[in-house]
Amino acid sequence: MPTYVLLLGMPGAGKGTQAQMIAQELNLPHISSGNLFRQHISKMTPLGEQAKLYIDRGELVPDDLTISMIRERLCESDCARGALLDGFPRTPAQADALESLLKEFSGQVNVVPMIRVTEDDLLERLTGRWTCRDKGHIFHQKYNPPKEPGICDIDGSELYQRKDDEAETVKNRIEVYLEQTKPLISYYKDKGLLCEINGAQSIEQVNADLLAVIREYL
Ligand code: AMP
Repeated sequence: MPTYVLLLGMPGAGKGTQAQMIAQELNLPHISSGNLFRQHISKMTPLGEQAKLYIDRGELVPDDLTISMIRERLCESDCARGALLDGFPRTPAQADALESLLKEFSGQVNVVPMIRVTEDDLLERLTGRWTCRDKGHIFHQKYNPPKEPGICDIDGSELYQRKDDEAETVKNRIEVYLEQTKPLISYYKDKGLLCEINGAQSIEQVNADLLAVIREYL
């Protein structure tokens, strides 16, 4: 049976950084809905053009567009063993759609780790973040600086600051999270799948805690 791990947490909780590490450690593909949208935007596809309108305002891309993009990605051959999902689902409707989709693959969500941080920490984390142009690898000017400024340690591509990481948009993204994504906490708690991790620790400690809880469920 394939394995599906969903990583939850507010924007800036460290989901992307941890997802990259954990996907490697569990040997699962890392599927980030945000990265998929950014790839569509840089290739100027019709989906990218539509998604950009929402992303630049810090709003969620409509469920139907998001769900069909994820469905397409999960059907690719590297997902036969399962996937680590980062940033999807973000609404209860997406979570319901994912459940039906995974049934088609004879799978189900196995565990939902949630990285918990306080709202005060988020603004600093997001506004200091640098993202790699090619693959979306994440750095932070203070907490996780690249070896060479402006260059991704992993693939050497250019680092840039996401437009939606600017302070005003970040505030909107946090509001959107509280309104639309926070209900997923009780959604997965009720299913007995949620486990919370303290995100206010070093990257290595958060990683160790995450791996430990995930392994308990797999
Ligand atoms: P992220 O990289 O996960 O912070 O996502 C960046 C932006 O992409 C979000 O602020 C949304 O505008 C959009 N996005 C990413 N994932 C989703 C999703 N599951 N549903 C709707 N919009 C999304």
